[in-house]
Amino acid sequence: MTATPRYRGYICDLDGTVYLGERLIPGARERLLALREAGSRIVFLSNKPLEPRENYAAKLTRLGIPTPPDDVINSTRALVHYLHTHHPGARLFVIGEEALLEEMRREGFALTEDVSQIEIVIAAFDRTLTYAKLNTAHQALVRGARFFATNADRTCPVEGGAIPDCAGVIAFLEATSERKVEMVAGKPSLHILQAALVRLGVPKEECLLVGDRLATDMVMGIQAGMDTALVLTGVTSRQALAASGLRPTYVLESIADLP
Ligand SMILES: [Mg+2]
Repeated sequence: MTATPRYRGYICDLDGTVYLGERLIPGARERLLALREAGSRIVFLSNKPLEPRENYAAKLTRLGIPTPPDDVINSTRALVHYLHTHHPGARLFVIGEEALLEEMRREGFALTEDVSQIEIVIAAFDRTLTYAKLNTAHQALVRGARFFATNADRTCPVEGGAIPDCAGVIAFLEATSERKVEMVAGKPSLHILQAALVRLGVPKEECLLVGDRLATDMVMGIQAGMDTALVLTGVTSRQALAASGLRPTYVLESIADLP
C-alpha cells in the first residue's frame, strides 16, 4: 500500500465502507487519516434521510476519524444544495418530519400549507404522515407546483417498517396527481454527488468515489464519469459484481487499500 494519495478528493460511503454498524473496518482509520495527512480531502455520504449529519460526524469522530458535520453529505443536504442553487427562497410544502421542516426554515425557505402559495412540494420519509398532508401536496401538484423528493429507494429506514417510505409517498402522489417526481436528491442521483464535490472543492477528475453498493454508489460514480472504487466489505460480492456488468475503476478488499 502506497502512502501517497492518488486523488486530491475522496467521497466515501459510510455503512459497509468505513464501518459495519458500530465496528470500524480494519485499517479504515489509518488509511483515511494518512490520506488527510498527505493533503487530500474526504467527505462522507449517507443516503439515510432520518439521521442528522451531526450524528454521523459524532460517530466518525468517536471511532477515531474526527469529522465536522459539514463533511457529511446526506440526501437532505443534497436537496438543500439543489434548492439554493436552482430555487432560492422558494415557498415549500414538505411532507417530512419536524427535524426536516426545521432544517428547511433554518436554510431560509418559507414553508406554507396554503395550496395557492406552494411553489415546490417535497416528498421525504415521514412517520407523521397524515391524509391532510397528502391532500395538500396533491392539490398543490395539480395546480402545477414542482415535485421534488429526498429519496426514492424502497427501503423503509425504520426497523420492520410497515409505514410508507419516501417511494410510497411519491407513488401515491404520482398516481393521484398524474405528475411525475422531477428531482430526487439522494443516491444514485447526481445531485448528492454534486453537493459532495462542492464541499470537497476538488474537480471530479481528481476525486475517487468509494462505496460498497453497485446500484447506488458505483452507478452514480460511473454515470458522473468519475473514478470509482468498489469495496468488498459491504453488501457486494465478486460474483454480484461480475453479474452486474459494471466496471469500477478499482475493486478493493477494503477501504484500507485505497489508492
Ligand atoms: Mg454502503
